[in-house]
Amino acid sequence: MAKDYYQTLGVNKSASQDEIKAAFRKLAHQYHPDKPTGNEAKFKEANEAYQVLGDAEKRKKYDQFGSAAFENGGGGGQGFGGFDFSGFQGGAGFEDLGDIFGQMFGRGGRQTNHVRRGNDIAVDVEMNFHDAVFGVTREISVTKDVTCDRCGGVGAEPGSKMKTCTDCDGKGTKTVTQRTILGNMQTRVVCPTCDGAGEIPEKSCTTCHGSGLEHKRKTLSINIPAGVDDGMMVRVRGEGEAIKGGVSGDLILRIHVEPDERFDREGDTIFSTARIGFTQAALGATIEHDTVDGPVELKIPAGTQSGATLRLKGKGVMDRGHRGDQIVKVEVVTPTKLNREQKKLLEELDLTE
Ligand code: ZN
Repeated sequence: MAKDYYQTLGVNKSASQDEIKAAFRKLAHQYHPDKPTGNEAKFKEANEAYQVLGDAEKRKKYDQFGSAAFENGGGGGQGFGGFDFSGFQGGAGFEDLGDIFGQMFGRGGRQTNHVRRGNDIAVDVEMNFHDAVFGVTREISVTKDVTCDRCGGVGAEPGSKMKTCTDCDGKGTKTVTQRTILGNMQTRVVCPTCDGAGEIPEKSCTTCHGSGLEHKRKTLSINIPAGVDDGMMVRVRGEGEAIKGGVSGDLILRIHVEPDERFDREGDTIFSTARIGFTQAALGATIEHDTVDGPVELKIPAGTQSGATLRLKGKGVMDRGHRGDQIVKVEVVTPTKLNREQKKLLEELDLTE
């Protein structure tokens, strides 16, 4: 069943990121298992909805694909909606800009409108030529910070009462004066003690000691889509390091493709070479030729010149639902060892231009 995350958080589809954050905070307080109004199932539901809607990128995907794109993230197969492709040069997005501003204005706190995000994790994935063309499911193990199971990432021991945060007097934010290159600036930052909640637990979670995180080895089964190429990066949203009071970073797969001596590749086109004798070139022939789908029959037309190319339609690489072609370069091999009989016949033919 598709889940309506907007309904879960009680906001409408046009809600701003700030409204979504506020709605989540309200629900998290109401349903926190420690409260008399606590409800663990609803607390988890709200958290799941916020993990997606609280992240502008994920929210965009959700609006496009629905919750199915995110539901399998926890160890099951990863839906295609969770992927992004980018070349090696890709990198500096808004998140990175956020970091740059963070450094500029000092690390004392975070801007209230910037959702904290865990670190990305990069892993190298080796695969053969065939798997890159057709896609492959890989088990990938990473040791990383994950949201603590016992407290749901809140850091409070279940059943422990909450008390007003003394650092921010329950406001969740603090005004700090920061010295910057632009002069002194007054900024409102999320309270670092309560991470903006305005409350802290009387007793910290016994599993994570209040950090909301556990360091664990997690194995994911990831469907790497068809058509990846050497040097590509595949981004699996939300499978990087978790962070308390924010959204998880991404897992980035750096793809390495082993070469296949029979094939070269450029984008969705595969290139190969067929070596034929000159009788076949002159008279035409049907030969067997390798493709990534296995051997196929290739018709060599009569009078084919060395260096000519033939196209095998739809034998290339899958790219956005459409398969490219394979281009076969024909190489006519001139015989080097002829017996007396063959020499005599060739001389009689007299094939000079
Ligand atoms: Zn915990």
